Amino acid sequence: MALDVLVIGGGNAALCAALMAREAGASVRVLESAPKAWRGGNSSHTRNLRCMHDAPQDVLVDAYPEEEFWQDLLKVTGGLTDEHLARLVIRHSATCRPWMVKHGVRFQPSLSGALHTARTNAFFMGGGKALMNAYYRSAEKLGVQIDYNAEVDEVELDQGRFVAAGVKHKLPDGSVRRERIEAKACVLAAGGFESNREWLREAWGQNERGEYPADQFLIRGTRYNQGVLLKHLLAQGADRIGDPTQAHMVAIDARAPLYDGGICTRIDCVSLGVVVNREARRFYDEGEDFWPKRYAIWGRLVAQQPGQVAYSIIDAKAVGRFMPPVFEGTKANTLPELAQKLGLDENVFMQTLNDYNQACRVGTFDHTALDDCHTEGVTPAKTHWARPIDTGPFYAYAVRPGVTFTYLGLKTDETAAVHFNQVASPNLFVAGEMMAGNVLGKGYTAGVGMTIGTAFGRIAGTQAAQAALKEQGHAVA
Ligand SMILES: Cc1cc2nc3c(=O)[nH]c(=O)nc-3n(C[C@H](O)[C@H](O)[C@H](O)COP(=O)(O)OP(=O)(O)OC[C@H]3O[C@@H](n4cnc5c(N)ncnc54)[C@H](O)[C@@H]3O)c2cc1C
Repeated sequence: MALDVLVIGGGNAALCAALMAREAGASVRVLESAPKAWRGGNSSHTRNLRCMHDAPQDVLVDAYPEEEFWQDLLKVTGGLTDEHLARLVIRHSATCRPWMVKHGVRFQPSLSGALHTARTNAFFMGGGKALMNAYYRSAEKLGVQIDYNAEVDEVELDQGRFVAAGVKHKLPDGSVRRERIEAKACVLAAGGFESNREWLREAWGQNERGEYPADQFLIRGTRYNQGVLLKHLLAQGADRIGDPTQAHMVAIDARAPLYDGGICTRIDCVSLGVVVNREARRFYDEGEDFWPKRYAIWGRLVAQQPGQVAYSIIDAKAVGRFMPPVFEGTKANTLPELAQKLGLDENVFMQTLNDYNQACRVGTFDHTALDDCHTEGVTPAKTHWARPIDTGPFYAYAVRPGVTFTYLGLKTDETAAVHFNQVASPNLFVAGEMMAGNVLGKGYTAGVGMTIGTAFGRIAGTQAAQAALKEQGHAVA
């Protein structure tokens, strides 16, 4: 019998779609490009999702009403959002958790070190890896067919209607078996293109120093989000949303692996010290705002520096005030020694540090508030938490831009349909990072990626099942 719903991708959005379609009575097959051990895409790196609630709810304290969530989204996107779709996602976040729990997901309160998130974000017990394992287990139990090592590189369309997908099964001996899979409806949930280094290179281009900045980027998540389907669909005339040069980028440990370093590669001491570039010069206000509100701008700032590298410098006073990185930093008893160990010009480095130290106007240091410790007479200024870096031992962490996800995607509507020339496809739907740009045109607020993927994954799965079952009805009639 012909397949009802084909789901392409194997992360949160894909599994939400698969489970909903199956619950609606459709036969479902999931194609995941990664091998089983690496299944789950970027979703397996996550920790939480952002949820609205009008009163305390199990792991969430106080209230986080729809309007506040919407204002947060509006602020970070600078208006690059669709209010109708954004509110749909926000409302969905109030009701999705019991369904997640039904499929084996467990929640826990936010950790005490995770500033301000106890009210807004529900944390997955065991992180995204446990969440994805729960969804896969549930899908298998419900009879969803799952293929790993199955990369879709072709989608056959007939005037905007999905017909079939061309899949490359990567076999254990390294060979490839091709298959053409027809289905009555299809959900695309294959992530962004952040793992595709050539595409990043093309999008970022060459800078005034003749460098290709993207060559130095590290990818925080999966290697499997190559954007193959995104490119293929755009080439076939699917309506697009978002800017290919926009990506969520964080400054991460320069020693992180090229892919899958995940959250433990973050360097969280920027606001407690200073950051210098390869030329040993500061380039931005390290104390502009609370770190959780600013961490996502530092990837781009570092990307603009020579060699796309920078060094976060702290002294002994900062130790114990931030989540320590997994690997120890470069340690030295004096600042000149630190400069030598980092291979930086010692004279320029000392000039930068001395200028900064002399400019510090220390008031009452308080890292939990926008305190009054600031600089005067140095450029760039440090507007909060400015204290001289004068107490050894001194530490440095080299950082590089770490790409979380890209924003380019497919245009959609409240039914999650893919659009061609502004006409909604009757049986091709999209969810997750492949369409997140409709809600999040730029910027980020923690946990919203999983909120969008959960909401649209579930909508896409329901719509795909309806489209498939409607077609079945026609066939019977
Ligand atoms: C380190 C890190 C931490 C994060 N933390 C959070 C967090 O705590 N909260 C939050 O909300 N967001 C977080 N995010 C963002 C979040 O991961 C994404 O918003 C979300 O996972 C997107 O879900 P998705 O299902 O669209 O994509 P993914 O989970 O990336 O899934 C895409 C899937 O498609 C598969 N695929 C790709 N191409 C093909 C193809 N051609 N054929 C078949 N399969 C294909 C991939 O293998 C993968 O399984 C984090 C991201 C990273 C990298």
